[in-house]
Amino acid sequence: MPTSVLGIPIPAPEAKLPPEAVDLLGAFAFQWTLQTSEIATNPPQEERIKRVVDRLTGAAKQNKKYAEVAGKFQWEVKLLKDDQKPNAFAFPNGKIGVYTGLFRVTKDEEPKLAAVLAHEIVHALARHAAERMDKELQRTLALAAMKGELKEAGISSDKRRGILIAMGLSSQVSDILPFSRMHESEADHEGLLLMAQAGYDPQEAIAFWERMEKFTGGSGGRIPELLSTHPSYETRSRQLKEWNPEAQRYYKQYRSSRPGKG
Ligand SMILES: [Zn+2]
Repeated sequence: MPTSVLGIPIPAPEAKLPPEAVDLLGAFAFQWTLQTSEIATNPPQEERIKRVVDRLTGAAKQNKKYAEVAGKFQWEVKLLKDDQKPNAFAFPNGKIGVYTGLFRVTKDEEPKLAAVLAHEIVHALARHAAERMDKELQRTLALAAMKGELKEAGISSDKRRGILIAMGLSSQVSDILPFSRMHESEADHEGLLLMAQAGYDPQEAIAFWERMEKFTGGSGGRIPELLSTHPSYETRSRQLKEWNPEAQRYYKQYRSSRPGKG
């Protein structure tokens, strides 16, 4: 085990949770969310989210990068009643929730719904939550090691607490936020390709985010981009437009393989 300047062992910085444990946590988190939320009853909307999830996960199972994980996950999607949340999520193990508020933005346009769900599904497939939990675990271990080290160095407990709080905050901003931003960008990019592979026009993702900006009054722009885990609408729109030609190739492929459909 490596040691610090004071000779205290530093826990392995690469400590990781096993994927099975993360999947189990995803299933628990989903159960908990269902128990603390109101399940919505709206057959047309339920049918629509099921169809979109089926098409997207079907495409993921055909995709070299995600086929293995997509085949292992126990995919499930539930409609949750909250008209104030224009939002959806996907937990590890393929547990997906869609809030009724999302339909206020997508209306009954399935490709726009696919844009959001493809983004969320990529978070789950790429195991972003697991990476985040690993970071959190590593951070906790590093802070615990530091705590011992400061004590050993004879620093008073009051001062120790101040140092640890500052360290915790700075490591959160420096490690966790940019990490999530990287995940957001990856989910946007891979999500765009996934929706195209499932036969939805990727152009619809650009249209969806423009509509979302209007819907929220551009409030995403109020948090400085540097401190937010989400890219600004401007960055997101620019990137989606950049990636669109690449995604269009997959969309064309889908359409030429299924003439008269999609
Ligand atoms: Zn995201």
